[in-house]
Amino acid sequence: MSKIIVAIDGYSSCGKSTIAKALAKYAGYTYVDTGAMYRAIALFTLRNGLTEEAAIIAALPQIEVGFVQVDGAQHVTLNGEDVEGQIRTLEVGNRASQISAIKEVRAFLVAQQQKMGEAKGIVMDGRDIGTVVFPKAELKLFLTASPEVRAQRRYDELVEKGEKPNFAAVLADVNDRDYRDTHRAESPLRQAEDAIVVDNSNMTREEQMHVIYGLFDKAVNH
Ligand code: C5P
Repeated sequence: MSKIIVAIDGYSSCGKSTIAKALAKYAGYTYVDTGAMYRAIALFTLRNGLTEEAAIIAALPQIEVGFVQVDGAQHVTLNGEDVEGQIRTLEVGNRASQISAIKEVRAFLVAQQQKMGEAKGIVMDGRDIGTVVFPKAELKLFLTASPEVRAQRRYDELVEKGEKPNFAAVLADVNDRDYRDTHRAESPLRQAEDAIVVDNSNMTREEQMHVIYGLFDKAVNH
């Protein structure tokens, strides 16, 4: 059976990575979390006190983002260091959303992402996968859920990690991030014309996976 590229885009905290990981396992494909790559660069800029756009662009040649497998899970690396445990915070997420608006940062990561997909057999999630990274992907999914549902999921994740979030602040953050992701000049988040929209506000994980595995089987057998 020939391998395909699956592009999964959508808003933050709508369960993209959970779905992408499950689908990659089902398909026997490689999963790539592109958000983690933007987060790794964001972490680099925070650690090095880089705030100016020009300084961030100048630092790109010193940044190497990669992935390693740890106990069957994918961890992102920054210059060879496993930084998975440090990138899933609100601070890094917000910085990632800011630096991802820089054209040069996007070009730097998009080139790497396209290379990862050369052999196909990949499930990649992000904001611009179906529109910019793989406009010819055989299956494009666009995930959405209401901001309140997404804020609740994000809130629960933070509580699980031992943080003490404030729901209103988490919701405001979700709305801010949506605004920035959809209004930036460079590759704003938008649905590809040929993407299939999955609104999972009122779907269980099992219901969602049933729908998505079905779409995948259909795309592979096309
Ligand atoms: O998906 P995640 O929340 O980890 O992504 C962090 C940030 O990186 C997003 O808010 C978005 O601004 C940016 N991003 C992007 N393009 C991608 C993936 C993530 O601009 N393909």
